[in-house]
Parts: sequence; C-alpha cells; structure tokens
Amino acid sequence: MLANKERRELFSFLSTSIQDVVKEKKPKETILRPPYFSDINAFDIECQNCEGLCATSCQEQIIIIGDDKTPRLDFSKSGCTYCDDCAVACTPDVLKVANKKLIEEKVAISQTQCMSWEGVMCFSCKDPCLEDAIDFKAMFTPTIDQEKCTSCGFCISRCPSYAIEVKGI
Ligand code: SF4
Ligand code: SF4
Ligand code: SF4
Repeated sequence: MLANKERRELFSFLSTSIQDVVKEKKPKETILRPPYFSDINAFDIECQNCEGLCATSCQEQIIIIGDDKTPRLDFSKSGCTYCDDCAVACTPDVLKVANKKLIEEKVAISQTQCMSWEGVMCFSCKDPCLEDAIDFKAMFTPTIDQEKCTSCGFCISRCPSYAIEVKGI
C-alpha cells in the first residue's frame, strides 16, 4: 500500500502529465492580423507604444488589442471590408495602405459541424458573402470556393452552428 505522501505525489505526477498532453493537443490560436502589414515582427515592436489607433478607427469594430498590445481581427460579430481605415490610422506605419493584400488565412466550412451537410436546409452563410464564394450543390453541402473567397470573415458570425472556421497558413 502506498503511504498518503506517495499517493499525493503519484496523483500530482499523473495530473501534470495529463495537463501536458491536453496542452499539446490544444490547437494553436490563429492570430489574424489586419491585412496591411509587410513585416510581421513590427507588431511586437511598434505596437508596444501605441494606443491601438487601428482598433479605434475600424468601423466594423473587428480589431481588438491583445494582452501583448498587438492587434488581431475578431470575426465573431462582423468582417473586414478592406476599407483601409486601420492602415491610414497607423502612424507608426506597421500597417500601410501600400501593403494592402487579402487576409492570408483561409476560411472553410466544417462538414461535421455544418447543418446543411447533415441534410438540414440552411443558407445563413450565403447572403453575407458578396463574393458569391459559397457553393451549394443542389441546395446542400456548401463549400467555399477558395478562388473567390477574400477571407473577409462576414459569413463566420452568421453561421448558427459555428461551422465556419479560419485556418492558419
Ligand atoms: S480594413 Fe477596415 S474593416 Fe478591415 S480591419 Fe481595417 S479598418 Fe477594419
Ligand atoms: S495602429 Fe499600428 S502601431 Fe498602433 S496598434 Fe495598430 S498596428 Fe500597431
Ligand atoms: S470569408 Fe469568403 S466565403 Fe465568407 S463571406 Fe467572405 S468571401 Fe464569402
């Protein structure tokens, strides 16, 4: 029989090992940056002394400033119109209109979470997509045409089953 002290040490060891496994399996957070940067490292330098000018200028309110004081896009309520306002507001020039590009990360529909893939009629993601990038085959099984998709994110918050995901590159 193990003494109480040894049992406590054993449980503590097992618990730490399980936490390590869970940490390893946790998907890495995808940080989406506003689509106007050229040097990814500039966020960690210039943004440290900025009041978050890009975030306050974004009319869609999709830029949030993280604990590390750098900006990231949050598509949980809206999407990016590529309006340039954040780049114009960024006086330290981390974001510049001249560097405008599409958001690089890809947007995709999870077939296991999407109701339409389960045979339920749903077109919630189709209307907000101005690029007409979501293909429905015979009114079901939507997929995103990556040639048309601009990764604007407007479809994401409209999906009632949280089936639309942003995938890191
Ligand atoms: S381009 Fe416009 S909508 Fe997109 S993040 Fe910048 S300010 Fe917001
Ligand atoms: S405005 Fe520019 S410097 Fe300021 S937080 Fe945004 S990206 Fe960083
Ligand atoms: S992220 Fe792509 S599929 Fe979704 S609304 Fe924007 S363009 Fe359409």
